[in-house]
Amino acid sequence: MESIVDWLSSHMLPCFHKQLFGFSCPMCGFQRGLILLLQGDVFGSIACFPPFAAWFLTLLACIVLLATKKMTKRIGWMIVWINLGVFLFNWIYQNVAF
Ligand SMILES: [Zn+2]
Repeated sequence: MESIVDWLSSHMLPCFHKQLFGFSCPMCGFQRGLILLLQGDVFGSIACFPPFAAWFLTLLACIVLLATKKMTKRIGWMIVWINLGVFLFNWIYQNVAF
């Protein structure tokens, strides 16, 4: 795992969106967050890229809902819209706060 983290750390891509338009893209922070997550720093990864928290909760909810056979199409769409909302809120927050 250490070599993957080292490789990712030394091959991070610059954000072309930020270079071109001067403000963050929706995925800014993902690479740094992924590296922190691979290093075992869950809270650091969430601080770096907050949608990770929504993705963890979504994964957990989907596992529970599928295991208990309570997943419906309506709940699935609700999860999708909540995730898109978190993603959009994070993007706006990144560009307003920094
Ligand atoms: Zn970016």
